[in-house]
Amino acid sequence: MPERDDSGPSTRQPSPANRTTARPVDTGSGTAPRRVLGDADRERIRTLLESGRGVPSTLPPRALAQLQAALGDEAAELSPEAADAADTMIAIAELAEVTGSTSIATALAQQPAVTRGLTLDGRRVDGLTEEELNSVAQRARGAVAVYLAPGILHHVLADGTFDLTTDGLIQLIRDVAAQYQQAKSGQPLTGDERYRRIAQALVTDDEQPDLLTATLGETALKVTSTQAGAINRFLADNPRFLAELRRRRVLFEFGSGKARAYGGGAYLDGVVHLQDLKHVAPDAFLRLVLHETGHATFQRILLADRTMPLTLDDGSAIGQLLRRVVLRQTYGYTPAGPPPRSEWRNAQRWGTGLTELLAIETSLLENRVLDGWRGMSADAKRLYHAWLLLREADGAELLGLDLGAGRRPDNRREYQAGKFTEFCAEVFMQAATGEVTSHLAVLEQRGDVDEEVKNAWRTVRDVLATHTAPILG
Ligand SMILES: [Zn+2]
Repeated sequence: MPERDDSGPSTRQPSPANRTTARPVDTGSGTAPRRVLGDADRERIRTLLESGRGVPSTLPPRALAQLQAALGDEAAELSPEAADAADTMIAIAELAEVTGSTSIATALAQQPAVTRGLTLDGRRVDGLTEEELNSVAQRARGAVAVYLAPGILHHVLADGTFDLTTDGLIQLIRDVAAQYQQAKSGQPLTGDERYRRIAQALVTDDEQPDLLTATLGETALKVTSTQAGAINRFLADNPRFLAELRRRRVLFEFGSGKARAYGGGAYLDGVVHLQDLKHVAPDAFLRLVLHETGHATFQRILLADRTMPLTLDDGSAIGQLLRRVVLRQTYGYTPAGPPPRSEWRNAQRWGTGLTELLAIETSLLENRVLDGWRGMSADAKRLYHAWLLLREADGAELLGLDLGAGRRPDNRREYQAGKFTEFCAEVFMQAATGEVTSHLAVLEQRGDVDEEVKNAWRTVRDVLATHTAPILG
């Protein structure tokens, strides 16, 4: 509910430069102030009339005629009826401005991310949960086996051909740990060829956490060797990205307790927090790191380091803009219609619908929705329009990658559908790993995918290409 103090809506007026509605004119007669149209509003209404879209059929012809006359005369005072019509048309114009043109698209099957796995106790799995991994590691016994278990499991999953019982997996961990110790002490390796290969890979991975620590300046002890290796390889392949992280002074905290509340990763006050996620596969872990760095780089670049208005970020402002049009059309065009902003303080004598309208207007102003929108770059607006289309139906058209337990494609789609900035971070990750390009290549081949969906993804690709090309590769 809006506040109803005496200072009222006047404290929430946008700055004069951004004022969106007609300003009151003191007629000196003691009656309600008359209004003239501001330049920006005159332009908005003129564009709307010229487009032939969005002129409400319920608009009284007399109000429309008065409004059209006022468009050509800067000093023309609007009758109450014409002022209502102007406010309604401004509401329609602002809805169209923020949403662009969208329509419900056909459902689209999503590409699964490539995952291998392991047959464990007769069941195909693509990973173990944190508890399962801890249990297996503890039963393998010995500090070396416990330390190596996540890395060994990764190599077993990446191989894809193992068929083991849980006891067999535990024995494998013990055997590979023994081979690893032999390799470290310079003795020749004997035994199962696949076990020897895993042991050698672990020896090679050993230096990765130290390398990551040296690269990022943050102790990477809470990262497995294979996870550190995945990040190191990405940073080595993308030196400009590392330079960008340094230029922006992005800090990292691995094994962060704060990240737990955010589903494993978060970007807070310039710091990328990642939870201790030893059970997470290196490729998935790298993607989580890329997602968080997407907030720290691409999102900030796209939004010019500004904070997105909260209700635009979660999309709730769209419903408000739409409802505002409905309410204005319902209550407008009569002398009893919505009063100009200068009279909002008298809201308590309005009916329910008008009170709702006031609450919406107040929320739009307090969240700086239209000011925030108008401050966004053309590319940020294009990407937002693409998001509006792709997020429909819990993000049916978004690309959800399978990042393991708790981060399945549906989770990832819902997550991106809920917030534009999460979408920014996720598509940055997908661009960094090449998945946006391959997703679009698949879409282009399909005749059953709505052209609007393809267009939205083309926009995603183009905006990402423009803003990430300087920092990736
Ligand atoms: Zn995020």
